[in-house]
Amino acid sequence: MRWTKFLIPTTKETPHDAVVPSHQLMIRAGLIRQVAAGAYTYLPLGLRTLRKVETIVREEMNAAGAIELHMPALHPIEWWQQTGRVEAMGDVLLRLHGVGDDWRTRTVLGPTHEEPVTDIARAYLTSYKQLPVNLYQIQTKFRGEARPKSGVLRTREFLMKDAYSFHASKEGTGGLDETYDHMYRAYCNIFARCGLPYIVVEAESGPIGGDASHEFAVRTEAGEDWLVRAEDGSYAANLERAEMAPLPDAGGGKNEAIRDIHTPGHSTIEQVTTLLGCSADRMIKTILYEADGAPLVALVRGDHSVNEAKLRRLAGAAALAPASPALIRKVTGAEVGFAGPVGLKARIIADQAVTVMHDAVTGANRTDYHVSGVNPGRDFEIKESGDIRDAVPGDRAPNGSPLIFEKCIEVGHVFKLGTKYSEAMGADFVDEQGRSHPMIMGCYGIGINRIMAAAIEAGHDDAGIIWPASIAPFQVEICSLDVREADVVQTSQQIHDALEAKGVDTLWDDRDARPGFKFKDADLIGCPVRVTVGRRGLQEGVVEIHTRRNGQTRKVAPAAAAEMVAALLGELMPRAEGSGGVRE
Ligand code: ATP
Ligand code: MG
Repeated sequence: MRWTKFLIPTTKETPHDAVVPSHQLMIRAGLIRQVAAGAYTYLPLGLRTLRKVETIVREEMNAAGAIELHMPALHPIEWWQQTGRVEAMGDVLLRLHGVGDDWRTRTVLGPTHEEPVTDIARAYLTSYKQLPVNLYQIQTKFRGEARPKSGVLRTREFLMKDAYSFHASKEGTGGLDETYDHMYRAYCNIFARCGLPYIVVEAESGPIGGDASHEFAVRTEAGEDWLVRAEDGSYAANLERAEMAPLPDAGGGKNEAIRDIHTPGHSTIEQVTTLLGCSADRMIKTILYEADGAPLVALVRGDHSVNEAKLRRLAGAAALAPASPALIRKVTGAEVGFAGPVGLKARIIADQAVTVMHDAVTGANRTDYHVSGVNPGRDFEIKESGDIRDAVPGDRAPNGSPLIFEKCIEVGHVFKLGTKYSEAMGADFVDEQGRSHPMIMGCYGIGINRIMAAAIEAGHDDAGIIWPASIAPFQVEICSLDVREADVVQTSQQIHDALEAKGVDTLWDDRDARPGFKFKDADLIGCPVRVTVGRRGLQEGVVEIHTRRNGQTRKVAPAAAAEMVAALLGELMPRAEGSGGVRE
């Protein structure tokens, strides 16, 4: 492809709102153009990478036995009502607004496709003999993300590969566990082939539902998730899921007498610690929830935060939400901000760290009052306790190794869904004995655009992008330095044609511009290999082959260039898992 016949609007300008490297570089290299907050055009160069990512994903999904289909972005809201997700998704679920009850009012834009795919299952899959089935698509999703940012890492319209499997059983041949394993391995292959240094962590399933899930993540400062891992490499999980060793009882309490303290208008941990001159880890934070319709009190140390997923699990609740101010007033008899466990008549679950506190400060269940000298066990009974908080720096992994916190971006997610959707939508099958059961489901998502941006986050330098050979928009760029010289053009054309004949996609920078300018653009768009053809080189009988990743340059005869470039690309090409992939 000749540069002059293509559209590559490279620019020196970095938009002021582009903070993360992938966003800056994708705009500067002419890969994308912002249309609105969270919506981007993929310009021709950007689209080439997106398509290559799609191809890798499709090949691995097909190899793992998944079947491709295509579902629409327009869904009847009725399906989302059946699964209770109109409420669960909140503002993320984008709706069309029509007049009265017309078709627009009854239509939503799919943020994910459990509902439409379950409708297919209930229509066509009726017998155990048809199972398992794993359906996937590569399709546009719409989400009302509150803060679309970081370029294409988080947008309101994006491409997802989403797969959904249906099973007659969880275990055994054809069961959910088996397909989950196949998908897990397919994902390892996909990310390895895309050249991503990825890690797999245990994850929280969130509003999608289900009981087991793994997240595939790439470590980057641009990420919005926290990855927590043990220093000794024994453990990794995302922050929502991370477990830690129990805190030891540090002792040191003087068993003070309990005492009221007047704290007028001081209701937050920060206000109270400032007023009393004590540290937050001396306080017991008392937070009220509504769990399946009943009040539930969570106690954590003042410097810790409640992990609602952990709390919900420990409480055995299906639904958990922060209590309303009215409920808080009713349960505590005080205004919001003065709750404490002493004398409180409600179900209380204490975090493990609270069980080893001494002489603590907490709310008095009386407006404008706190109490000090509170000792768990003596002043209030702890009937239920466990891990209900987020890990913090200083915590240790379950095996005692210190926990390290790093930012990461999620690129893929696999879930065991169970029967949540099949039950809600009546997707049943008949077993060998003629009995009817809801199908057991799994779901598996990958962000196509996010892979592209994550690859740039993981591969760039000050000069520009360093693409993995597998997903570079072009694998090779031929840089012709003196395009007014006939032999330069002729040699460039020959190398270009020879490479294309070998199936190597090649961009030929045939612009009549200064070498420095062209080299800058070449580094910016980041093709793995550059071939420089110039008058001076040709006089010596050579062209130069430059590897973007390590900066190495070698000179070869023009006739040997295509062969050498192909061999070099073979070395640079990331391999699937099991053949020396890229996993960290
Ligand atoms: P996040 O926690 O980052 O919002 P998610 O848990 O909402 O992600 P899923 O619903 O599991 O994501 O979607 C599957 C995949 O789709 C994610 O792993 C991610 O790669 C991609 N994805 C999700 N939301 C976006 C978005 N707003 N923009 C681009 N890609 C996204
Ligand atoms: Mg999300």
